Amino acid sequence: MTEQLTSLSALRDRVASWRRAGERVALVPTMGALHRGHLAVMQTAKADGARVVASIFVNPTQFGPNEDFHRYPRPLADDIALLEKGGIDAVWLPTVDIMYPGGFATTVQVKGVTEPLEGAFRPGHFDGVATVVAKLLQQVMPDTAYFGEKDYQQLAVIQRMVADLNMPIRIIGAPTVREADGLALSSRNRYLSAEERQTAAQLYAALTEAAAAIRAETGEVEAILETARQRVLEAGFRAIDYLDLRDPVTLAPTTSLPARLLVAAHLGTTRLIDNISVE
Ligand code: AMP
Repeated sequence: MTEQLTSLSALRDRVASWRRAGERVALVPTMGALHRGHLAVMQTAKADGARVVASIFVNPTQFGPNEDFHRYPRPLADDIALLEKGGIDAVWLPTVDIMYPGGFATTVQVKGVTEPLEGAFRPGHFDGVATVVAKLLQQVMPDTAYFGEKDYQQLAVIQRMVADLNMPIRIIGAPTVREADGLALSSRNRYLSAEERQTAAQLYAALTEAAAAIRAETGEVEAILETARQRVLEAGFRAIDYLDLRDPVTLAPTTSLPARLLVAAHLGTTRLIDNISVE
């Protein structure tokens, strides 16, 4: 049974009971609309032998005014069924009032690693992410917290925050789970039309092709990246926010390896992100 925790006191009592029994606790924060990618992250946590708390909270403060907060999918019954099937111990379901009661006035702002890429195109996004994750970590007080590499910059931001604030929590990245054609699983994939869904796979194809060319040093990095950008646009994407090679920790521009290749691009009204390691 996945225990549904809807008050902070119930959450804290459950975690305390596990601690008294000498068990370790892992947190996997999500915004729900769960898929195999989320479940894989949770299974990684479970395989490490910890009690697993998933959280589901569609965090309003990490969405921009023109983003999809209101239409973001919230299939709670399906989510609970998936968690049950995955043998997840508990799900923390805070409301907006629990997270942001009247008078709430604190923002956790990580500098540097938040500024390029997503930070440049989604102003305020990582303030929302860092603040809500800091709160979730304080609420659950887990030993470990798991984040998907799918949101690579988010993982880097959380690593930075936890180090800077001396939070005694180990942050663990889990590999991206993909469809058979390479498309990274995402709650937002359900916005894609059948035709867009076909095109979407070209994003990962362009990344893997560029990564191979960079590894093989077939040309200047910038020329390889430009070819990849052209390929994404020719495939039918409407616009590219970025397709860049970055330092894997600071996310500063780089041409040396190991590096991370990251992309954000618009397909119709849907914005897709992906990234891969280049070693
Ligand atoms: P979200 O619900 O989109 O906020 O995602 C919750 C967590 O699941 C984040 O740490 C994501 O990086 C992770 N995640 C989402 N999609 C995938 C995927 N396809 N593979 C691995 N992890 C994922």
